Amino acid sequence: MMKHNMVDLKGQYQEIKQEVDSAIQEVISNTSFVNGPAVKQFQASLEEYLGVKHVIPCANGTDALQVALMALDLKPGDEVITTSFTFIATAEVIALLHLTPVLVDVDPDTFNIDPEAIKKAITPKTKVIIPVHLFGQCADMHTIKQIAKEHDLFVVEDTAQAIGADYTCPKSGKTKKAGSLGHIGCTSFFPSKNLGCYGDGGAIFTNDDDLAAQMRIIVNHGMTVRYYHDLIGVNSRLDSIQAAVLDIKLKRLDDYTKARQAAAEFYNKAFANHPNIQTPKTASFTNHVFHQYTLVLKDVDREGLMKHLADKGIASAVYYPVPLHLQKAYLDPRYKEGDFPITESLSHGVLSLPIHTELTEEIQSEITEAFLEFVNQ
Ligand SMILES: *Cc1c(COP(=O)(O)O)cnc(C)c1O
Repeated sequence: MMKHNMVDLKGQYQEIKQEVDSAIQEVISNTSFVNGPAVKQFQASLEEYLGVKHVIPCANGTDALQVALMALDLKPGDEVITTSFTFIATAEVIALLHLTPVLVDVDPDTFNIDPEAIKKAITPKTKVIIPVHLFGQCADMHTIKQIAKEHDLFVVEDTAQAIGADYTCPKSGKTKKAGSLGHIGCTSFFPSKNLGCYGDGGAIFTNDDDLAAQMRIIVNHGMTVRYYHDLIGVNSRLDSIQAAVLDIKLKRLDDYTKARQAAAEFYNKAFANHPNIQTPKTASFTNHVFHQYTLVLKDVDREGLMKHLADKGIASAVYYPVPLHLQKAYLDPRYKEGDFPITESLSHGVLSLPIHTELTEEIQSEITEAFLEFVNQ
C-alpha cells in the first residue's frame, strides 16, 4: 500500500460528499438513468465553460475519438497523423476504423506533436491530424491549424488530459479553451482525469452544426427518428449519475486546476536547476493544467529511483514506457526502433510524480526529499 498515490480521489470526494451524494440520490429517485435531465444540465454547463456551440456527451474518451472520426466521412486507408508519444486510445480508434495511423515525433520540451514533423508526413491520402494536448498543455495549434488549412485537413483535438487549459493564439491574441480550437475536440472523464467522474465518461465538442448533428446521430445507433437508422452508429452515452457528479465537479474545475498548478510550482522550485532533472516546460501560447507532473531524468537510474520512492510509500509512474510505433499490436513494417528518437528517449527518461487536488506542502516535501535523496546520492 502506498501512502502517497498518483491521485487522491477519496480526499477529493470527502470535500464534496454531501453535494455529490444528494445529486446521485436524486438521479436514483427520478430513475432517468440514461439521457436524463442531469445529462442535459451538464451538457449545457460544459458548453458554457468551454465556449463551444455543441457538447455531445458519450461513454468514454476513446468513443469520443472514434465518433469524431466516424463523422468525417473517411474511407479505409485514409491517413490520420498523430503523435508517437501518447496513450494508446488515440491510435487504437484510427486502426479500428481501418484508417491508417501515421505517427510523428514530438517536441523534446513540451512532449507535444512537432508541427515540422507533421508537414513531412503529409501525403495525398492524409485527411486528419489528431494533436494530443499531452499531460495538460496545448499543442502548437496555430501552426497545426495552418498546416490543416493549407492541405484541407480536419483537426481533431485529443483533450483527454487538458480539459480547462487555455490556449492563446499568437497571431490574434485570443484565448480559448483546449478542445475548442480544431474542428472537433474530444475528452475523457475517466476518474483520474482533471475532470473525472465516478466511472467512465467522455464528451465531444464542436462549433460546427453539421458535424454536431452527425455525431449526435452516431452516438445513438445512427438513429434520426426512433427506430429509423440512417447511418451505422454506436451506443455511446453518458450515464445520468456520472453527469450529475461531473456538473458538481465542473464548478470546481478552475480551483482544481489552481491546486495542481500550485503543486507543480512546489516541485519546480525543489528541482530547479538540478543537472539531472528537466522540470516541465510550458510553451508560450498555452498554460499547463498538469494532468501529469512529468520530469525527464538524465543519468539517473529510473527503476532504482522508483523503487526507492515505493519503499517510502510514494507512488511514481512512467507515462509512457513504450512508444506507439514499438507496441506489439501496432508493429508495422513502416516503422522501426530509431524512427522517432525524441519519443524513444522520452520513454526511457520520463517519470511522473503524484499530482492532484489534495496535495499538501508536507506531503510534497516528503516526496521531494525522498526523490533528491536518491538522485543526489
Ligand atoms: C484517457 C485518455 C484517452 C481515453 O479516454 P478513456 O475515457 O479512458 O477512453 C484518450 N486519449 C488520451 C490522451 C488519454 O489520456
